[in-house]
Amino acid sequence: MKNIKDLNLEELENELIELGEKKFRAKQIFKWVHNVGVRSFDEMTDLSIELRKKLSLNYDLCVFKILDKLVSVDGTIKYLFELNDGNIIESVVMRYKHGNTICISTQVGCKMGCKFCASAKIGFVRDLTPGEIVEQVLCATVDTKERISNVVYMGIGEPLDNYDNVLRSIKLLNHPHGLNIGGRHVSLSTSGIVPKILKLADEELQATLAISLHAPEDKIRSSMMPVNDRYNISQVIDACKKYIEKTNRRITFEYAMVDGVNDTKECAEKLIKLLKGMLCHINLIPVNKIKDGIYEKSDKKNIERFRDILMKNGLTVTIRRELGSDIEAACGQLRRNRMQKESD
Ligand code: SAH
Repeated sequence: MKNIKDLNLEELENELIELGEKKFRAKQIFKWVHNVGVRSFDEMTDLSIELRKKLSLNYDLCVFKILDKLVSVDGTIKYLFELNDGNIIESVVMRYKHGNTICISTQVGCKMGCKFCASAKIGFVRDLTPGEIVEQVLCATVDTKERISNVVYMGIGEPLDNYDNVLRSIKLLNHPHGLNIGGRHVSLSTSGIVPKILKLADEELQATLAISLHAPEDKIRSSMMPVNDRYNISQVIDACKKYIEKTNRRITFEYAMVDGVNDTKECAEKLIKLLKGMLCHINLIPVNKIKDGIYEKSDKKNIERFRDILMKNGLTVTIRRELGSDIEAACGQLRRNRMQKESD
């Protein structure tokens, strides 16, 4: 059955006409689906019972089951969602003073195999559909009864490896009759899929692009991220420069600080050479230790020293605050997968 959440307003209009209904019903239904986030067609109270029935016979509403919900001491919530086909994904809601941010998944598992990331260990199962990407935000909004104002595509999966569905999901989230989350409140993080970065530059998106750089030289980056053997640092940086030139938008570089691997003075100096003069922002993330992981986080002093070297050289740098680590909700920790029958 077709997932009604995958459809944009125009498609829904066409579908309703085909079902012998009036076109204007589409807007009503779209609002129920994408703004209110109803959990069943029966909640669409301004539609006739017949129409609700017809919808339920023709469409899947794509409502996730909350299998588990963990709340951190800092207010961060980790959701474990069950999809209609039994697959399981995770999303994390973080509470900041300026509003709630959700970190969402784009795939069941991931192909990238980054050495520091727990999601890599799930292996790849399948892409999420646009509706499934959006449902994470809807389900969390309905459950928390709070508005979610920011969305980061930084959960499980590689967003640019599921390009079309991710783009469509951003448009659905942006829609004025949907959650109306402005493009500027959306960030998308990639491990550096060069052709897709270049493609994205032409989309006229307002979203912020984040690049998981993590190292200033190929030898180190390849040891952390196998994708670097496919698209190396100079290719990624080149694509970023083109992206900035076309969009005039600032790029964020994420840099997970790993003790003794990429946190030396030498690395800082190489990073300066690489990024100096670019319209960018560097986000230093103390790497989160994962089960059986080989990496330890750099100590706080070292991270601050690294930051200071970069800042002295005119780069814009922040150190990411760690949220939710007590519930394994921090970066790279999203992996709990019951289909694997809890090998961990
Ligand atoms: N595949 C995309 C998005 C998902 S990962 C990407 O690679 O960007 C989101 C961010 O978390 C990336 O910057 C990723 O490198 C980082 N990350 C993954 N595991 C981590 C860990 N254990 N500690 C800190 N950051 C991690």
